[in-house]
Amino acid sequence: MNANSILHLDLDTFFVSVERLINTELLNKPLLVGGLGDRGVVAACSYETRKFGVHSGMSMKVARNLCPEATVIKGNASTYTKYSHLITEIIKSEVPSFEKASVDEFYADLTGMDRFFGTYKFAGELRQKIIRESGLPISFGLSQNKVVSKIATGEAKPNNQKIIEVGTEKGFLAPLSVKKIPMVGNKTFQKLVHLGVHYIHTLQEMPLEMLERVLGKNGKLIWLRAQGIDHSPIIPFHERKSISMERTFNKDTIDVIRLKATIQAMAESLAYQLRNGNKLASTVTIKIRYSDYQTYSKQTKIPYTSADHILVPKALELFQNLYQRRVLIRLIGVRLSGIVGGNYQINLFDDSEKMLNLYQSLDKIKNRFGEKSVLRASTLGTRTIGGVQNPFNGEPPIVLAHRKQ
Ligand SMILES: [Mg+2]
Repeated sequence: MNANSILHLDLDTFFVSVERLINTELLNKPLLVGGLGDRGVVAACSYETRKFGVHSGMSMKVARNLCPEATVIKGNASTYTKYSHLITEIIKSEVPSFEKASVDEFYADLTGMDRFFGTYKFAGELRQKIIRESGLPISFGLSQNKVVSKIATGEAKPNNQKIIEVGTEKGFLAPLSVKKIPMVGNKTFQKLVHLGVHYIHTLQEMPLEMLERVLGKNGKLIWLRAQGIDHSPIIPFHERKSISMERTFNKDTIDVIRLKATIQAMAESLAYQLRNGNKLASTVTIKIRYSDYQTYSKQTKIPYTSADHILVPKALELFQNLYQRRVLIRLIGVRLSGIVGGNYQINLFDDSEKMLNLYQSLDKIKNRFGEKSVLRASTLGTRTIGGVQNPFNGEPPIVLAHRKQ
C-alpha cells in the first residue's frame, strides 16, 4: 500500500524577499519590514536580524533598538499580493489541486504521482520553477501528512527542501522543541515547560491521559502530532470561494444615505467574518438590482486585507461607480472573494499598533456580546444583518438569504 504524499511549500521571509527582489542592495543586510510610525509593528524581518532577538509582531521601536544597523522599510501590501498571486499561478499550472494556506504558504497532495516519477523529484522541480520564475526563495517539506511536512519545511529553511520518509516521522520529530508543533503557542509551551517537557521525544513517551489532563481537549491532538500522526485534509483553493451578504428592501428605495449605510454595515460584517476565520480577501464585488429587475455588478481586486478601513471605502467607491441609473433599487449586495488564510500582518504597514489593538478589542467585544454590539454611528440607522458565525468552520461558504428589512 502506498502512503500519502503531502507537500508543504513556504516562501522564505516573504515580504523581506520581495523587497530584496525589488532592490538588490538590500541583499544580505539586516532588514525590517513594517510600520514606520512611532507605534509601528514588525511585519517581517530578515534572518540577519534574528540573532539580535528580533521577531515579527514586535514593536518597531524595540526592534530598532535591538538591531540599530537594520534598514527599515514600510511594507506594501499590493506588491506582496501581486507576488502571492504569481506564485499561486505557477503552482496551479503544475498541481491541479492544492491548498493556499496563507499568502505565502501552500499544501499539495502528490499522492499517486510516484507511479510516474518520484514525488520528491517532482517537488524539487516545482520549487526550482518557482524560484526561476518569481525570483523568490522558497522551501518545502514532503512527508505523508500536513503537520510533519510543515515542520520539515521549517527545518529545511532557508531556501532548501526536506523529505521525511514514511516510517521515520517519529525519529525526525524526537529531537525538536515542542514549540515546533503547529498549535503549540506560547501558553501551551509554558505549560509544557512547567512540566519539564522541552522536546518532542518527551511528549512521545508521555501517556496520552496525562497530556489530556494538562492541556484539555488539545492534549490529544498535540500528542498525536508528536507521534507524527495527522489526518487533516487538504482544502482545495478556489479563487471564487467567497462570502457575501445581500439585502432586498421591502420597498424599493433611492435613499442614497441609507443604501450606503447598508453597504457599510454589510462590508463591516464580512470583514469581521474574515478576521474571525483568520482570512484575507483580495476581491470586492458590489451588486445592485433595480426595481425593473435589471441586475448589475462590479468588482475590483484589492491587496489582501481583512481591515474595515480598507474594505468599507472600497465597497462604497464601487457602489458609487455602479449606481448610475438613478432608478429605485430593490436589492444590494457585497461579496468578498479570492480568500486565503492570513492575519492582520499584511496590513501592519499603514496601521499602527493602535489600529491593530482597536480591531482586536472590537472583535473581542463582538465575539463576546454578539456582532450587533459594535456598530459604527453611520450604520446605526440600518438594522443589522444576520446572526453571523465563523463561516470558515462549516463546509460551503455562506450566502445569507435575502433578508427583508
Ligand atoms: Mg513564509
